[in-house]
Amino acid sequence: SKIRVYELAKMLGLSNKDLMQILEDLGVDVKTHMSSIDAETAQIIEESLGEPKTKDKPSDVKEKGKKVVNVPPGSSVSDVANLLGIKPADAVKALLEAGKMIPAGATANREILDILSEVFNAEFVVADSAQEEQEKDKAKSQQRKKPEGKNLQPRAPIVTVMGHVDHGKTSLLDYVRKTKVTEREAGGITQHIGASTLEYNGRKIVFLDTPGHEAFTSMRARGAQVTDIVILVVAADDGVMPQTVEALNHAKASGVPIVVAVNKIDKPEARPDRVRQQLSEHGLIPEEWGGDTIFVDISAKTGVGIDQLLEMVLLVADMHELKADPTVDPRGVIIEAKLDRGKGPVATVIVQEGTLRVGNIVVSESSWGKVRAMIDDRGRNLKEAGPSTAVEILGFNDVPSPGETFKVVGSEKEARTLIDKIKQEEKLAASKTERHMTLEELYGKMAEGETPTLRLVLKCDVQGSLEALKGSLKKLETDEVEIQFIHEGVGRISESDVMLASASDAIIIGFNVRPDSKAKKLAEAEGIQIRLYDVIYDLIDDVKSALEGMLAPTL
Ligand code: GDP
Repeated sequence: SKIRVYELAKMLGLSNKDLMQILEDLGVDVKTHMSSIDAETAQIIEESLGEPKTKDKPSDVKEKGKKVVNVPPGSSVSDVANLLGIKPADAVKALLEAGKMIPAGATANREILDILSEVFNAEFVVADSAQEEQEKDKAKSQQRKKPEGKNLQPRAPIVTVMGHVDHGKTSLLDYVRKTKVTEREAGGITQHIGASTLEYNGRKIVFLDTPGHEAFTSMRARGAQVTDIVILVVAADDGVMPQTVEALNHAKASGVPIVVAVNKIDKPEARPDRVRQQLSEHGLIPEEWGGDTIFVDISAKTGVGIDQLLEMVLLVADMHELKADPTVDPRGVIIEAKLDRGKGPVATVIVQEGTLRVGNIVVSESSWGKVRAMIDDRGRNLKEAGPSTAVEILGFNDVPSPGETFKVVGSEKEARTLIDKIKQEEKLAASKTERHMTLEELYGKMAEGETPTLRLVLKCDVQGSLEALKGSLKKLETDEVEIQFIHEGVGRISESDVMLASASDAIIIGFNVRPDSKAKKLAEAEGIQIRLYDVIYDLIDDVKSALEGMLAPTL
């Protein structure tokens, strides 16, 4: 398919000028950055991509003793270029010539470093990145406890489907439920309990039935993390939309791996490569482009690609070695709850650790009870439920809230004492809400070496001001402080924005927009600062003053 030079430049993270130069060097004839690369020129690029030419080094690189360069883990191609003292465009070019089309913003993995080290005659020393990555993941998802226990065993991944409205989340869930849930067992009538367990190649996958990020974030805001993998659905005929970005930011903020399902591939107007390009701009770089995000083209209508998608989910699960000990004290999360006229409080839980049994006394954060019965999504009565099992529990005294965690205790008395204690703690916590960062405190925290990053959620009334503001704010960055946009979008400040800010300790800035009432309440409860502006100058000035420690703390 045709692509314009500027599109390719954007994809690669280069300026139009740099890419034009590279193309010229490669012998591709282009006039302006608006030129589309036709079949012929595409072929030249393809050919140059097809034949690795790492051997001939650019002539301007002098042969000399190998330069030893320390590369911090997670460095991008352009970071590495800077460390080498070369232009990012030259690094991208060298990679192109070695047969790799890799954007300057992509993380420089081992393979990339190998190519660059050869071309530019350098030796890269990378800190133990695996360990650092793990630390990062840990920090990001403190709630996700490392599995403990002597009898760790593999467990099924728990998957949440997210994406923009109408991109096919429900259709995907329906399709997998219809085709992959085995109906062999007696009494195999599908029950909607809030999660579906399906089997693929003899292995189980648990899908949470509520698509979208509300469920995901409200659960996370409560401190519970159940999702192991997010499937991000993007319709190939529509491309990346605001909720796509919101969803991927939520997943990123909590450190949950993402598998991208490019849906509606059956439609003639589907442009799956455009989706890849757009998501690359948000840091999800397809594996086939040298990144580490798995993309699968699917159709939730015809079923094309669904098997491959499930395979990839299992692959990612394997990479993350999901394990749990079925013999420790049972623990888990409530994902749905309601009051049933006949049965009383009914709660669907996911067991995360240990094995829950009928007769156990369970305590959540607001309720407790003796498990009278457990029913799975096939309508079967279970006596016990091990890790990664979703079951409906009868026996709670009150209806607990989704997102509450539960555990098992030895006696009813213990359960009552525990609930009382939790309620008292809640009261105490409510009286001294944990406060998040404010713009006024930024400088002090910077001075204490606490935060080199100002994290922002930016909401505007129109796309134009969003771009302009982002540009101006980015310019305020100094050596001491980086400005990071956790999320940005057009429209009112919503609950979801506040949750995102809360999860990332960010400040919310609204330009010509206001929070809705729910968002306002939540921000107060969570101690998130929302700053509203209608004059660009005031906004920029405040952030600038904050960076310089000059912001009056009365605002
Ligand atoms: P959700 O809002 O993300 O849950 O989206 P839905 O699953 O409700 O799908 C929105 C619309 O897209 C429905 O009319 C579906 O029939 C249609 N749809 C979903 N997946 C596909 C697909 O793979 N191909 C085609 N042609 N249509 C699809």
